[in-house]
Amino acid sequence: MRDSNRPKSKNLNVLKNTFRYLAPYRLQIFVSSIALLFTAGVTLSLGQGLRHLVDAGFTARSEKELAVSLVAIIFIGILLACGTYLRHYLVSWIGERVSSDIRYDVFAHVIEMHPSFFESNSPGEIQSRIVTDTTLLQSVIGSSASIALRNILMFIGGIIFLFITNVKLTVIVLLSVPFIVFPILYYGRRVRNLSRDTQDKIASVGSFVSESLFNIKIVQSFFHQEIDKHKFKITVEDAFAVSISRIKQRSLLIATVILLILVGISFMLWVGGMDVLNGKITGGELIAFAFYAIMVASSLGAISEVLGDLQRAAGATERLMELLESKSNILDPEDPISFPFPTSGQIQFENLSFHYPSRPDRNAIDQFNLMIPANKTTALVGPSGGGKSTLFELILRFYDPSIGKIKIDETDIRSVTLKQLRSLIGFVPQQPVLFSGTLRENILFGNPSASFEEVKIAAEQAYVTEFLSQLTDGWDTDLGHLGARLSGGQKQRIAIARAILRNPKILLLDEATSALDSESERMVQKALDELMKDRTTLIIAHRLATIVRSDQIIVINQGRVDSQGTHEELLKNSDLYARLASLQFQTEEL
Ligand code: ATP
Repeated sequence: MRDSNRPKSKNLNVLKNTFRYLAPYRLQIFVSSIALLFTAGVTLSLGQGLRHLVDAGFTARSEKELAVSLVAIIFIGILLACGTYLRHYLVSWIGERVSSDIRYDVFAHVIEMHPSFFESNSPGEIQSRIVTDTTLLQSVIGSSASIALRNILMFIGGIIFLFITNVKLTVIVLLSVPFIVFPILYYGRRVRNLSRDTQDKIASVGSFVSESLFNIKIVQSFFHQEIDKHKFKITVEDAFAVSISRIKQRSLLIATVILLILVGISFMLWVGGMDVLNGKITGGELIAFAFYAIMVASSLGAISEVLGDLQRAAGATERLMELLESKSNILDPEDPISFPFPTSGQIQFENLSFHYPSRPDRNAIDQFNLMIPANKTTALVGPSGGGKSTLFELILRFYDPSIGKIKIDETDIRSVTLKQLRSLIGFVPQQPVLFSGTLRENILFGNPSASFEEVKIAAEQAYVTEFLSQLTDGWDTDLGHLGARLSGGQKQRIAIARAILRNPKILLLDEATSALDSESERMVQKALDELMKDRTTLIIAHRLATIVRSDQIIVINQGRVDSQGTHEELLKNSDLYARLASLQFQTEEL
């Protein structure tokens, strides 16, 4: 995870980026600002209520005035409660709303990014940004920002009321402010740094857990639990140690501030008390004064606290904005044209060269020329790393070639929209991927607008119905949980049913039968035969036995066409193919 070296943005300007997310909720912001001003004003007026209570009630010994003051204070309390409810509700609502909007936008943006983007931006890190960074923003918008604003108002209002109440005492208070602010700033910074460390340590606890549990079978098969437990203990204890040193600093900060505030207030009460005794000011004035002084001190504390949050939120916003501003390398053309209709599905590679962005020095595909006839089956064979899967990625436009072009029905695939291109193609990967959701939903993935009847027919053709009765809830069995319990062949057949439902003109098949036992393989092969009818099919063959009947076989080596022909032709003409064949058929006979 990148959390461990998160830069902390000092530049709070970054937070401006959130303004466009706040803009739609102007009304809520306006009402909550009014509520904020209102509650700050009401809190400040509480001091005046106290003053009246003491001077008119106690000092004048008037029961009526005492009652009036208390009723006034309760009335102020009711106003405060209503205002606080409105402010808290609306501000938290805005925080949740904005973070949900940003979450959605980031996901909607990155899901459209070119696949190689995820090589330099790990999905785990993006997930953490979408979850943690937006949560941080939500807490800042939904509470810290309002706490900061409220306390700034309280601080300014408190100082004004201090001056109104008593100038001499105010000067004493202001002189003691630096003594309180200094430790807050000093310890506050240390606490903040340590709390960042804590976050990072906790993030590594999280990633440790997910990595171990995600690979539980490997962990248990190597009997690695004890070692993992030990490693985890170190990680957890590390997080604990950092948390404790943060808590120590924080406790020290709180204790020091309390002590200093009490000393300051006692001193002020002593000076003020003398004035009361000498009849220079009233008792109520002193109480009101103490009330405002405490308010000023605590608002100062709160402001310094949330300043750290705001800085962390600036860092989080910066990272989210980086994601939102990243541009996909694979885009629709400006003036897209269409494939001829009906599309035959003939594919042509013209002088194609391509290197992966991370390996610019080596061409994975090198001056590649080939014609794949429509409605025929073409098998791609060759040594590992030859470039077979890369060809699939180029046909699907996960990458664009550096030189040359790929044409379908004489049309460059870069001149049609990605949607049109990909709707022509069905891709069955070597490792079928099941999503959480029911069997029916997993097949529907191939064509979400298909009817249940069509799903059933596809499942029938792919021999999925063969094992339907073994699934506890039939069509509604949740494969997310069950995926691990399905056999490789069953998963493969579901992936094939998905492709049948899609009914693509071009089929890209990363043949997976090598991993299956012969019974399972027979079923998958039958399902595949069904799928390949009347389509342009490209198979990456790992086992030659399955493709001897293909219309043409292409031997690919080091990104180039080594030789092509039928099985018999190649046995005669291609040394590489003959060698592959003799190796495989020998091992199979053993
Ligand atoms: P196999 O039969 O083992 O699957 P293949 O013929 O399908 O092999 P490709 O996967 O197309 O071979 O790989 C061609 C070359 O490109 C290899 O050298 C491989 O290491 C490299 N390669 C594949 N994917 C990437 C990637 N994402 N980034 C960098 N290089 C890659």
